[in-house]
Amino acid sequence: MRILVVEDDALLGDAIQAGLKQSGHAVDWVRDGVQADHALLAEPYAAVVLDLGLPRLSGLEVLQRLRQRQSTLPVLILTARDTVEDRIQGLDTGADDYLVKPFDMGELSARLRALIRRASGFAAPVLQVGAVELDPAGHCVNYQGAPVDLSSREFTVLQALMLNVGRVLSRAQLEDKLYAWGQEVESNTVEVHIHHLRRKLYPSLIETIRGVGYLIPRDKVV
Ligand code: CA
Repeated sequence: MRILVVEDDALLGDAIQAGLKQSGHAVDWVRDGVQADHALLAEPYAAVVLDLGLPRLSGLEVLQRLRQRQSTLPVLILTARDTVEDRIQGLDTGADDYLVKPFDMGELSARLRALIRRASGFAAPVLQVGAVELDPAGHCVNYQGAPVDLSSREFTVLQALMLNVGRVLSRAQLEDKLYAWGQEVESNTVEVHIHHLRRKLYPSLIETIRGVGYLIPRDKVV
């Protein structure tokens, strides 16, 4: 999934970016509130990790603007240890969760997984479509009970389609989930991943809607 990290502390931002990439996410990292506001207007993220103390525009203002635009994007705020008021104000402004610095990267990843899952309307931690099960935490996929070996990008494409069962995702939407800024998008890469997914799982799982995109039809859900 594609995550926006908003953090002005270079060391911490770097650590968060590295940790989330390791969890298989595409990560964009910005260091002030104005850049964050622009990024949120321009790009389709799955979630935001938002520091509150930021240059140019505070995290709370970024959050306010986001919610004023009626966005339901999951937001996890980062706050300092001694600022209970910040946390309360953040949650009241529309944050979905918070972590107090310093925090554990594993916990940040787990909280983001939960937020993304809930935002997609899935309460269970494991996504299931027919005989295909995808576990975001374990980063593994089973088909008919047997593990299937997927690359990190194949996993991301499958997860995006499973989170949007019955909805068509365009090639551009899938590319957005695979690539952060500055990464070169290889041509036909989505088609190749879809091809591999059909081969490794089963051909009719993912349908091609010519000229529009790809979907897992709703009638495939058990
Ligand atoms: Ca800060």
